[in-house]
Amino acid sequence: MDRSAPCIDFALIGHQENWEKVSQLVNAMRNNEGIEELDIETIKQIFSYIPPRPVFDIQVNSINNKSVHGVYIETFIAPDQLDSKHLHQNLSKVKEACICATKLGVNIVSLGGFTSIVLETGNASLQNIEHNYFKTGNSLTAAFICEGINKASAQKRIQIADSSLLVIGSTGDIGSACVRYFSRKVKKLLLNARLEKRLQQQADELKKETIQCTASVNLNQLIPEADIIICVASSPVNEWDIKLLKANVIICDAGYPKNIVESLPAHLKKNSFNGGMGYNKLGFHFTPSYMKAFYSYPVPSASHGCLLESIVLSMEKKYEAFSTGRGSITLEKMNTILQMAKKNQIVLSPFFNSEGAW
Ligand code: NDP
Repeated sequence: MDRSAPCIDFALIGHQENWEKVSQLVNAMRNNEGIEELDIETIKQIFSYIPPRPVFDIQVNSINNKSVHGVYIETFIAPDQLDSKHLHQNLSKVKEACICATKLGVNIVSLGGFTSIVLETGNASLQNIEHNYFKTGNSLTAAFICEGINKASAQKRIQIADSSLLVIGSTGDIGSACVRYFSRKVKKLLLNARLEKRLQQQADELKKETIQCTASVNLNQLIPEADIIICVASSPVNEWDIKLLKANVIICDAGYPKNIVESLPAHLKKNSFNGGMGYNKLGFHFTPSYMKAFYSYPVPSASHGCLLESIVLSMEKKYEAFSTGRGSITLEKMNTILQMAKKNQIVLSPFFNSEGAW
């Protein structure tokens, strides 16, 4: 990586979704250094021992022929070790990655995927890291999810006002924002999460506002009624649940890993998409050019809303912790960041899933 690159506006901290992606990234790094490639079994043995580090520079083109510069910091957290058993070890790695970002003098840092967990306690675990703004990027993710549902419903001629919307992970940071956004727009809300108490509390509050909803920890009680589904949890959906889906259901899967979209039969995949994704109309470049190894989306310059949020804030020179904590995403925030993104040519991505774009 070229460390003499111009001032770094933003950093993205992340981890890989599966071993195939890990292998592609590790071998691209080794190729770049002129070292021989490793087989996946060897990579699995060593991967978790690699300390977090900057892996490539990112140049994002902006309006008026300007660009912003960032860096991707890989945590080297193994994709099959995201469970509570490895929590302590993973937190240490995320904090190490945050320290890397601080040393680079980065103005704003997005904590992508699992890594946003360190912000859950109101930044307490980051109190020793100064002069940087760390954020989840969930406001732009939630905004892209809601915009995606509006657009997909219009395309498929489904009336949102006559529809029942199921939110899987409804009590979470992104899920609760989607619930707020759609609460007065859909016919009925169907709410799902694992912890019954929190779920019931959410349903009770909505009912107090005379919003029609049903909450259940059992997906099979909700799926048959759903016309539209937003998945914002790493929820495994079993084959029995899949059989209960309506034939024309629209599914926005924004959770990781992608348990729902991946398990759908072909006729349902045509109405389902990876949610929370945006793309930069003006494009971006990686140095070294790991694009081929690292970038696997069928849509050029597509990226996660959570990562794009830092890029948008950098473009606007608004170095602030826009999205932090849990449950603090307001509709106003979603609209503000979405408008800022649009102004900078960052918009909702065309729809795609593992089968390609549609
Ligand atoms: P939170 O931890 O705030 O919320 C997770 C929600 O999912 C909670 O309601 C949780 O409730 C529920 N949940 C977790 N596991 C299950 C399960 N097995 N079945 C049903 N519900 C479940 O996370 P965020 O809102 O920050 O993120 C949600 C998802 O979105 C994650 O998978 C994350 O990786 C992904 N994400 C996607 C982005 C994108 O750009 N596409 C950007 C950022 C995040 P309970 O614990 O009660 O089950």
